[in-house]
Amino acid sequence: NSFIELNLSRPLLRACEALGYSKPTPIQSAVIPLAMNGSDICGSAVTGSGKTAAFALPTLERLLFRPKRVPAIRVLILTPTRELAVQVHSMIEKLAQFTDIRCCLVVGGLSTKVQEAALRSMPDIVVATPGRMIDHLRNSMSVDLEDLAVLILDEADRLLELGFSAEIRELVRLCPKRRQTMLFSATMTEEVDELIKLSLTKPSRLSA
Ligand code: AMP
Repeated sequence: NSFIELNLSRPLLRACEALGYSKPTPIQSAVIPLAMNGSDICGSAVTGSGKTAAFALPTLERLLFRPKRVPAIRVLILTPTRELAVQVHSMIEKLAQFTDIRCCLVVGGLSTKVQEAALRSMPDIVVATPGRMIDHLRNSMSVDLEDLAVLILDEADRLLELGFSAEIRELVRLCPKRRQTMLFSATMTEEVDELIKLSLTKPSRLSA
C-alpha cells in the first residue's frame, strides 16, 4: 500500500514525499484508483481523513496526462466556507508544486477585481465558495465552465446546510454534461442524496 502502487506520476510522488506522506490514508487508497479510471465518486469522509489529497491527486494526474488544448478552467472545487477553500487551495498548491498546474482561489472577502484577473488568466483549477463563483460567471463574459473536466463538491452536507442548494444547482447546470464529478460529505442526508442524483453519474460509493 504505497503511493507508487497507485500509479501516480513523478511530480506528484515527489510532492507526497516532500509533504512527509509515507503511505496513502484509507480514503486515498479507495478513491485514487477509481478516480483515475474516470469514475464519479461519492465519498463519506470527514476532515482529517486525507480526503483533500484523495480528490486532488487523481485530479492533478488527469491534468498532467490530458493537457488542455486551449487555456480554460478544467477543474472547479466548491467548498462551503472561505476557510475550507483557503485550506484546499493551499493543499493543492503543495501537491502541484513540481508541476506547472495553476490553481486560484475565488472567495468572498477578497478583492473581486483581483479574482477576476486571476480567472481571466485561465487557471487550471479554481477553488471557490459557490456565491462568489456565480457572481464571476454572471458578470464576466470571459469566465465560463465550458471546458470543465472535473467538478468536486467538498463537504456537500455543509454546502447544503449553509443554504447553497440553488447556487450549486446553477453551477452544475453551467458545467458540461460530460465531466467527472466527485462529492464528499461527512453525513449522507436526504438532501445530499438528492444532490448526488442531480450531479453524479453511476458513482462509486466509498467511505473512510
Ligand atoms: P484532510 O482530511 O484532507 O483535511 O487532511 C488532513 C491532514 O492530513 C492534512 O494536514 C494533510 O496534510 C494530512 N494528510 C493527507 N494525506 C496524508 C497522508 N497520506 N499521510 C500523512 N498525512 C496526510
